[in-house]
This record gives sequence, C-alpha cells and structure tokens, in this order.
Amino acid sequence: MKNDLVINLFRAMADFLEIKGENPFRVRAYRKAADNIAALEDDIAGRVREGSLENIPGIGMDLASKVREILATGTFAEYEKIKESVPRGVLELMQVPSIGPKKAKLFFDTFKIASLGDLGRAARDGRLLKLPGIRQKTVDNILKGIELLEKGREAMDLLTANAAAVSFISALKKHREVQEISAAGSLRRMKDAVRDVDILIASKEPQVIADVFVGLAPVKMVLAHGATKCAVVTQEGVQVDARIVPKDEFGAALLYFTGSKSHNIRLRQLAIKKGWKINEYGIFDKKGRRLASATEEEMYRKLGLPFIAPELREDAGEVEAAMEDRLPRLVKLSDIRGDFHAHTNYSDGKNTVHEMAKKAKSLGYEYLCLTDHSVSLRVAHGLDEARLKQKRREIDRVNRSLKGFRLLFGSEVEIDAEGNLDYPDRVLSQFDIVIAAIHSGFKQSQRQLTRRIVRACANKRVHIVAHPTGRLWPARGPYEIDLEEVFRAARDTGTALEINAHPYRMDLSDINARHAAEKGVRLAVGTDSHDISHLDYMAYGVGLCRRAWLAKNNVLNTLDLEALLKVIKK
Ligand SMILES: [Zn+2]
Ligand SMILES: [Zn+2]
Repeated sequence: MKNDLVINLFRAMADFLEIKGENPFRVRAYRKAADNIAALEDDIAGRVREGSLENIPGIGMDLASKVREILATGTFAEYEKIKESVPRGVLELMQVPSIGPKKAKLFFDTFKIASLGDLGRAARDGRLLKLPGIRQKTVDNILKGIELLEKGREAMDLLTANAAAVSFISALKKHREVQEISAAGSLRRMKDAVRDVDILIASKEPQVIADVFVGLAPVKMVLAHGATKCAVVTQEGVQVDARIVPKDEFGAALLYFTGSKSHNIRLRQLAIKKGWKINEYGIFDKKGRRLASATEEEMYRKLGLPFIAPELREDAGEVEAAMEDRLPRLVKLSDIRGDFHAHTNYSDGKNTVHEMAKKAKSLGYEYLCLTDHSVSLRVAHGLDEARLKQKRREIDRVNRSLKGFRLLFGSEVEIDAEGNLDYPDRVLSQFDIVIAAIHSGFKQSQRQLTRRIVRACANKRVHIVAHPTGRLWPARGPYEIDLEEVFRAARDTGTALEINAHPYRMDLSDINARHAAEKGVRLAVGTDSHDISHLDYMAYGVGLCRRAWLAKNNVLNTLDLEALLKVIKK
C-alpha cells in the first residue's frame, strides 16, 4: 500500500511551500489532503483504479493528478522541483521538534542559518532573541531539541533491530531489480545495542527500489526519499536507512557503511600510505583510477589484508592482527552442537520437555540442557525434589524416543546471599550439568557479590556460572563485581562462564568475554530460552563470541556430547 508515501510527500510539499512563503491556501490544501488520506482505511491505488479518487474530501482534480503521478513514479514533478530550491540545511532545522517551516524560514532568511550547528550558535549567542515572537523559552526549547537530536535515538536491542532488518530485506529481496542486499552498520557487526538499522542494496534501478522501500508495510514515516538514499521510521519506532548503489560499488559501500568509523579510519590510513584514496565508492589511485570496489574481499586484498569479519571491525587490534596474519578463526553458528540454558513449563518456560527437544533437534543440535529454576526461586516455580524426579523421568522418556540427540538433565541453581547453593550436594550430583546463578541481592557490596560467585565456582558440582554480571536490558546495568577475581576463580576451578545469548542479557559482554578467554576461562553459550523460538537466539550469542574474538576451541558448545561430558567434569 502506497498511502503513506502519498501522505508523506504531501506533508513535505506543504512544508516546502510554507518555507518558500507560497499561498497559505495551497499549503493548507496539501495538509488537509494528507490528513484525509491518512484517515482512509483502504488502498489509495484501489481508488485510482475505481476512478473514485475525487470522492476523498479535499482531493480535487489537481491533487488527484498528483496522487496518480506518485503512484506511477514514486514522486511528483512539482515536489522534486521545489525540493531542489530549498537549502538542505533548512530541512535539517525542521528536525528540531519546536521548529516548523515558518521558524526555519525566518532563521534562514534573517541569519542564513542552515544547519543545526548554526542554529545552536545563534541560540546561545542571543541572536535568535532579536527576532519577532522569539522569547527565552523558545530558545531554551530549541537548545533542548538540538541536544536530543545530537544524542540520537535511544539504542535498541539486537532482537528489535534484527527483526526490522529482516522484514525489510525479505520484502525487498522479492524484487527483481535487487541484485544484492545486506544489513550494514552496527547490526551487521552484531553490537548488542543498535541505534538505527542500515540496509545496503545493489540495483540498476535505484529510483524504483527507493520507491518500493519507502512504501513497504512496516513504514510509518518517511524521513528522506532520494534516489539513492532513503530513511524511514517503522511502526515500532525503528529508524531504517537504505542506500542504493551500483553493483560494482557494493563492496566499497558495504565496507564503508558497516563501519565502525574507527575501523574505517585505520583503513584510510593504510590507503594514504600507498598514495591512494578510499571512500564509499572504492579505492582510487592518484590519477583517480579505481583499483577496487566490487566486494569487501577485493577491498581488503588491495590494502594487503585478509578479509576481516564485520564483528571484529572495532579498531580493537584487528587491523594489526590482519597485517600480521594472526586473525582468530572465529567460531561459527554451524560449529554449535548444543545449548546449555533452557527452561520448560516445569519452571517458568512456555513449552514442554518434548517440544523443546524437538526444536533443538531441528536446529541440528546433539544436545540441549534443560535448566529449570531451583526450589527457592518461587516467582519462577523453582522445582522441589519431587518435581525434579518427575522431570527426570520425562526427560528419560523423551530421550528414548529421539535418535542422535540427547536432553541433558540440568538446573539453574540459585546462589544465595552467602554463596551457598539451593540444593544439597546429594541432589546436585544427579544433574548432568549444573549452572549456578544470582537472581537476587544485587545491592550487596562488590566484595559480597564477588564472594558469592567465587564460592559457587569452588563447588565441585557447578559447571557453569550463568549471566555472570546480571545485566538486563534495558533496566539494569551490570552489578558491581570484581571480574578479574571471578575469571581467576573460574579458570582455577575449571568452571565455565556463560555467554547468555538472550538479546536482553548478552552477558558476559563482548569485551569481558574476550578478556575471560585471554585469561584461560572456558565459555559456554546459553540462550536462556523460555520458549522454543528463543532457541534461535544462539545466533546472537555466536555474534557476541565473534565480537569477543573467540575461536571454536574457546566455546564449550562446539564439543560433541561425549567430549563435553568429559571436559566439564571437575
Ligand atoms: Zn537466570
Ligand atoms: Zn535462565
């Protein structure tokens, strides 16, 4: 449905007309028409086919012909013409919430203010106050608005960002004109917090793709609609930017828009040393001849480097490692043989033992450890000994029915305020795998919290410590804990630390996980699934592992069942 496209173009047209000081009746006509189309429940294209466009209030012959033009071409000539004549910076000013077209025009006409930077200076040095109708309060609001814009949107978790990217990419892939498509930016680097979603597309028909993009179902608002560059906001409030480039520049653009900025700066320095230039269009020699651009591999090769995985591109030593040919062989999703952390409907999970097993097996796993909560975590229906027995029997039964796959009998056991475990050793010794975790008493001192975890590591029956720093999206940061001491205890006792793959946890973080591995700590990825669909979160966990420079042998999940059960024994 292209209703939103028409609405957005009409509203933008009204703003432009107002900035240009055109007839206020025309301005109002476009706004009114946009509002009335927004109130429609059916597809405006249907109205065109039926010939009933003019029945919409406020749409006369003139606007009706513009609607038809938009549906056919993705824009309309008059809009494109007026857009050209309005300085870009003036549009930028209108992103500040308290500034409409009238004020933007006033600022531009009087002081030639044409950027947020200009505006901020004029607000602070008192110039704006000289204008009619501008009081101190208006100026304060403007400064606040600029600050908000500069801070940028709130970051979102990987799950939200990825869902948005997938919905756009899968819809765009259906179009023949899309030759290549990929997410870029921090999502492609699998950062645990993403500000906006970047999508890069290769096509010979950029305008066609741009029109399709801004008209896709998840779009709520169009921020920019050019032939090669578009930006929209989805119904969920996610900003999605698209760039459309020729296929032979796709690699250069993908490298550029994947970032990070600091990684790209390092690459630029390498290019400069060779007397070249590197940008989003390629690598160029002094005479401006293009040396590379089609693929990222080609770009890196030209710079004398092997391919650097997107997850590593943070200027955290990856360029040096690449130059010396000692990049890690990063663990891959396909290396993963099982999952250590999942809940069933015995505690606070949604699915049955059998449903969880079936889904894990369908992922190609050899094992899944079911780790329902222990007895004292009442809010999550922790299991007492009688229920444990019942669960054990059910697991045995399901295991007998499944070939080439095994459910492991596990538990996520509370570490109490003193560092004691929730089950006696007699019970703990019955589990295949025990993961220990803190779910309460976060306000303790750093010493107390650290001691609890160190004591849990010292317990012979504990194999893994789950979500070691307790951070939880978006409400709770990591609790105070001496990670150096925890890493030492984990290494010395042979206890693995968890990389919790749930997008709301991502704990250990990439930096901490890398540090832990360097200290010789083993890492175990768990999805903390409470639902069969959460088992797919393994991809986020592996992304985190890769950002932490982990190879296959750093990650317990890459072991087959036999090796695993041998290795985790203390
Ligand atoms: Zn937990
Ligand atoms: Zn859990």
